[in-house]
Amino acid sequence: MRRKLAAGNWKMNGLRSALGEVGILAADHLDPACEVVLCPPATLVRSMAKTCRENCVTIGAQDCHENSSGAHTGDISAEMLADAGAEYVILGHSERREAYDETDETVRNKAKAAWSAGLRAIICVGESASERKAANTLDIIGGQLAGSIPDAATGENLVIAYEPIWAIGTGLVPSIGDIGEVHDFIRMRLERRFGPGVGRSVRILYGGSMNAGNAADIVQVPNVDGGLIGGASLKAADFSKIITALNG
Ligand code: PEP
Repeated sequence: MRRKLAAGNWKMNGLRSALGEVGILAADHLDPACEVVLCPPATLVRSMAKTCRENCVTIGAQDCHENSSGAHTGDISAEMLADAGAEYVILGHSERREAYDETDETVRNKAKAAWSAGLRAIICVGESASERKAANTLDIIGGQLAGSIPDAATGENLVIAYEPIWAIGTGLVPSIGDIGEVHDFIRMRLERRFGPGVGRSVRILYGGSMNAGNAADIVQVPNVDGGLIGGASLKAADFSKIITALNG
């Protein structure tokens, strides 16, 4: 059985004054059926991890460097994030693939670095609007999966997030049928590469304009094991409703 996962991606949002949101979230979900992960900006990882030590919310980061230390001004290593209290790291988000030209190889190297530091990697894949229009979605996703996931994947160290780029922050969401098609395809590729044991144990999240109104329907889709939520994770009151929907 795969435990459902609600992961919040705060992106470049949140000052210390936002720390209270975690306390509210934790109080709302003292013993949730689903796992709850919050990925704040790196500046808040340590304080949030401290706040969360005794409760149900786990803290993640949004990126890491592929090296563990060195002359990389402005970057943060996976080891540093783990040292600050992170347990997860989002890798290969489309905003990073686009803005920083991150390739599948970069993402794969970052995942290896994350695993060496003991972090779990949430690796994002997803097609653009033009790729979907050209009926290339499954080819694109297949290529990203093959290139971005290192060989040593397990159900413990890897989570996949399917995030159609055109659905992120736009209010647009694929049909339930389209979400199901891509998630089934990802599951099939994971099983084919890693064998049925590992392939069936890796969780596959849906991400892209998930909110309190659509989460319950999306999570009913076979092979959807939860959500990666951006905008709707910033306020505890909104995220809380999604967690409740994922709790089933
Ligand atoms: C995201 O950026 O990972 C995301 C899913 O954003 P949103 O929920 O705001 O579409």
